Amino acid sequence: MTYDPQNVFARILRGELPCRKLDEDQHSLAFEDIHPLTPTHALVIPKGPYESLLDFADQASDAELASLVRLLAKVARDKQVDRTGFRVIANTGSDGGQDVPHLHFHVLGGRRVGPMVKRPSDG
Ligand code: 5GP
Repeated sequence: MTYDPQNVFARILRGELPCRKLDEDQHSLAFEDIHPLTPTHALVIPKGPYESLLDFADQASDAELASLVRLLAKVARDKQVDRTGFRVIANTGSDGGQDVPHLHFHVLGGRRVGPMVKRPSDG
């Protein structure tokens, strides 16, 4: 699939849209989700044009891969959810519920995040 350079996170990375930046390094950016679902709700994204975890795994350099994982951990510590616990989610594709076609990891915490997924019988 072709990466869409007009997606909202690409526009944030180019400085065309604002974000509440938390941290960054050469390869990755962390910022606050615009509609937080939990007291801590950060997004961590690679700066490169990767639509999904699949593209990232196939094409990213070792430095990009390491940067993203380290920034996830740093955000969790900086937000002080490292002791209480947190959840990292990367929604992928349509069944995964991915709305923005630029790889992003949600970091959710600051309260009990709840069950991992709903059962179909829960509606
Ligand atoms: P997805 O459903 O793709 O896993 O998650 C996309 C996330 O991006 C949502 O949690 C949504 O609130 C967030 N989001 C969408 N547009 C913007 C934006 O312009 N700025 C920020 N900071 N977050 C956004």
